[in-house]
Amino acid sequence: MDKKKQAFNTKVIHAGEPDPRIEGAINVPIFQSSTFEFEGQTDYNDLKYIRLNNTPNHVALHKKLAILEGAEKALVTSSGMSAITTTLLTFLKNGDHLIANNTLYGGTADYIKNDLPDYGIEVDFIDAGDPSNWADYIKSNTKVIYVETITNPLMQIGALDKVVEFAKENNLISMIDNTLASPTLFCPIQHGFDISLHSATKYLNGHSDIVAGAIIGDDPYISMISSKLNHLGGSLDPHACFLLHRGIKTLSIRMEKQCESALIIAKFLEKHPKVSSVNYPGLSSSPSHRRAKQLLCGFGGMISFLLEGGIPAADDLISKLQIPISTASLGGVESLITRPVQTSHSLLSDEELQLAGIEKSLIRISVGIESVDDLIEDFEQALK
Ligand SMILES: *Cc1c(COP(=O)(O)O)cnc(C)c1O
Repeated sequence: MDKKKQAFNTKVIHAGEPDPRIEGAINVPIFQSSTFEFEGQTDYNDLKYIRLNNTPNHVALHKKLAILEGAEKALVTSSGMSAITTTLLTFLKNGDHLIANNTLYGGTADYIKNDLPDYGIEVDFIDAGDPSNWADYIKSNTKVIYVETITNPLMQIGALDKVVEFAKENNLISMIDNTLASPTLFCPIQHGFDISLHSATKYLNGHSDIVAGAIIGDDPYISMISSKLNHLGGSLDPHACFLLHRGIKTLSIRMEKQCESALIIAKFLEKHPKVSSVNYPGLSSSPSHRRAKQLLCGFGGMISFLLEGGIPAADDLISKLQIPISTASLGGVESLITRPVQTSHSLLSDEELQLAGIEKSLIRISVGIESVDDLIEDFEQALK
């Protein structure tokens, strides 16, 4: 069988595995060795060393991730933020300009707004859902456009196909944070993006037990980022590589279940009299529904919603729920619930929250793989 034609569910298990298997082992063993014997390499980046991200644990993961998103190459990093900052610093120099979506993961937004100007890099923010005025922001020094597949916490989907067109027309490098979609729902490189970024801490690993990142794309981009990463030092430890590798093997079944349960929960919440609004791209009421159907292979496992009764009602619900755990982060097998202004979005000022349309009482749930009947029953009792 042509391996390229294999289904995603087959690829998550088998793609990129060492051939032949190492000592016949079904899993890539953990190579807990910082350095490896010199083999006459002539390029520094080819010396086998954990910081250079090229041990057998890294190599197998890189192959698997590249195949899953249909790209030439991939790189794993010590965290999602390491993937994002290393990639931005590879392509942006003093005097350059960046265009980014106006709602981004809190850490990314904070880095772009407060750290990049220290390096002489300017930024302008656009609404990725509305291409009408993007051209107004183009300058002679604009180099990069940066967006996210599904925004957090409002679960909006931008005009991603238009972002790709706009980047090509204006000779920009297009970067997309694909964390919330994962390759199960969206493969950015196949859609024409230059670089796909992940917090592998979330859906890719799926078990809330490591912090990791991934960068996926074609050469020469990935080789350039790899050299930068070797200098900045954001390498992933081999043990974390092993856990990430193991986690990825269940990505498709986890994500299928999470999408299915999230739609059921979103519909339940939308009908509940104590719920005033629900953000989920799978609902026909969502302003992103049409785009989600057109661009993604599913609607994702993340929902946000507002209750009648504001912050006290939100905190009351979170404390009464027995299954979802109250915490930041997302994409694990366990359902996680939070008020983003207390966790993921606590760096944003009141003005920034208002601009982004994020209410302080907004609740966000990352749906896990528990029985959806149990989750619904839990919401029913907690909303009483
Ligand atoms: C969590 C997250 C990040 C940051 O990833 P870390 O692994 O925590 O460094 C970046 N982007 C998105 C969308 C995230 O959810």
